[in-house]
Amino acid sequence: MNAIDKSLSSSPVSGAFAGEVADLFGELGLSLAGDLGSDLAVFSPIDGSALATLGMHRAADMDAMVANAGTAFLAWKQVPAPHRGELIRRYGQLVRDHKEALSRLLTIENGKILTEARGEVQEVIDICEYAVGLSRQLFGLTIASERAEHRLTEYWHPLGPLGLISAFNFPAAVWAWGTTVALVCGDSAIWKPSEKTPLTALAFAKLLQKVAADYEFAPEHLVQIAIGDAECGGIIADHPGISIVSATGSVRMGQDVGVRIQRRFGRSVLELGGNNAAIVAPSADIGLALRGTIFAATGTCGQRCTTLRRLIVHDSIRADFVKRLIATAATLHVGSPLDDATHVGPLIDKAAFDGMQRALDRARSEGGTVHGGERIEVAGTPDAYYVRPAIVEMPAQSEIVREETFAPILYVLSYADIDEAIALQNGVPQGLSSCIFTNDVREAERFQSATGSDCGIVNVNIGTSGAEIGGAFGGEKVTGGGRVSGSDSWKNYMRRVTATVNYSTSLPLAQGVKFDLDID
Ligand code: NAD
Repeated sequence: MNAIDKSLSSSPVSGAFAGEVADLFGELGLSLAGDLGSDLAVFSPIDGSALATLGMHRAADMDAMVANAGTAFLAWKQVPAPHRGELIRRYGQLVRDHKEALSRLLTIENGKILTEARGEVQEVIDICEYAVGLSRQLFGLTIASERAEHRLTEYWHPLGPLGLISAFNFPAAVWAWGTTVALVCGDSAIWKPSEKTPLTALAFAKLLQKVAADYEFAPEHLVQIAIGDAECGGIIADHPGISIVSATGSVRMGQDVGVRIQRRFGRSVLELGGNNAAIVAPSADIGLALRGTIFAATGTCGQRCTTLRRLIVHDSIRADFVKRLIATAATLHVGSPLDDATHVGPLIDKAAFDGMQRALDRARSEGGTVHGGERIEVAGTPDAYYVRPAIVEMPAQSEIVREETFAPILYVLSYADIDEAIALQNGVPQGLSSCIFTNDVREAERFQSATGSDCGIVNVNIGTSGAEIGGAFGGEKVTGGGRVSGSDSWKNYMRRVTATVNYSTSLPLAQGVKFDLDID
């Protein structure tokens, strides 16, 4: 433990993991001394104990931060993109060097099991590598001009400061998806992480700040972090100095933030809630479908935006499939996410547990039969919220099934033909992720076609969660329509220029318009 951070573990609110958090920051060569305060208590969902208490940024701090981001942008946009990529290459290497410490910190603060935390840190490393390659690939187009001796092109310039608001459930990866790509695109960045996971955020942001401080081309304040709650996020949404806001979280948050950004004609990328479904067809490989279903429904304790929340299983196989599913769910090891044998860690907090129990009560009142869902006592953790994942057999896609409850609840519905299955799959307000388990090529293709799933993510013989960084990630309808991570998502962070050059001696107008003037 470094000397300054001893204050963390000796603080009056510190709990069982506070010392380890301080040690992990020490191992990363980072200090939290300047971030401690009395505004925001941070807890570990593993046992509900306090990890640290941080100060929060206020409106005046945010104004200064945005001004600094504006100044940093003016310098950074002039740095050639491959040199911008070099910053991310160095950062990716640093994260790789510290993968284990970062994963452990993430698990302690967020509660996801260690293997999933390692996966999330790997996702940060992967997107860094992607962004480095991208820094040499920010290409435009040459378009055929209708006018002789004219060249029509489209190219891309840096846009401006990025404000990134993120959710608790992916406390590092979502930030890296946006920030690493935005940085190679020439933007500066401010991060407002979830108030439930600010320590992981501080570790990842400070490592990047450290790399930037040692990099000759990186201006001061290129990457900043704002610790705060919804009010702080609102300042980012409203601030005219922020060119693009990437906001990940609940639909309620997106409805507020989206309107506020639009009011000032800022650019927004909204990554909001999902209500993801799997169709299990009669031809499916049942073992594969069971494994895919269980992981997608219970991974991260049901707290992924892509968590499987609805199972739409064919009438002919429903009884047997559901029986096996319930039996398998009952064998999952629920417990400390630091224990290698654990499949399901804790919910983030009491509010999540209460929300889950309210949803199960509503499901019962709408005719559902609930299997599991009860609280599980884990020795020595009376303030933590561990649950048995719930499987709920529903008579129909009722009101509660159409809502996203951010907890491990899998509603089971059945269908008679593929049209009915697709109608059920699409019959919710959200449009993030979807999948079908089938060995019938016609069904698989139909599901991916324009008359199939209406989601942004459409999988065949894979569960709804666990996207790779190479594709564009996001969804339709109330999921917000944004796309982040790979593919051409980088275009969000740049402004498009359409340019026409006339290298002739005449001035032909487009569409054959005549405007003759007698000028030599
Ligand atoms: P949340 O909406 O409570 O908070 C998310 C972030 O938004 C936090 O940083 C919070 O401080 C901020 N915030 C909340 N209200 C705000 C407001 N009115 N103005 C400005 N900022 C505001 O979400 P959560 O509980 O942290 O995360 C769970 C939700 O996030 C789920 O709905 C999940 O599906 C969604 N999510 C979506 C994706 C995706 O890519 N589509 C990824 C992860 C999580």
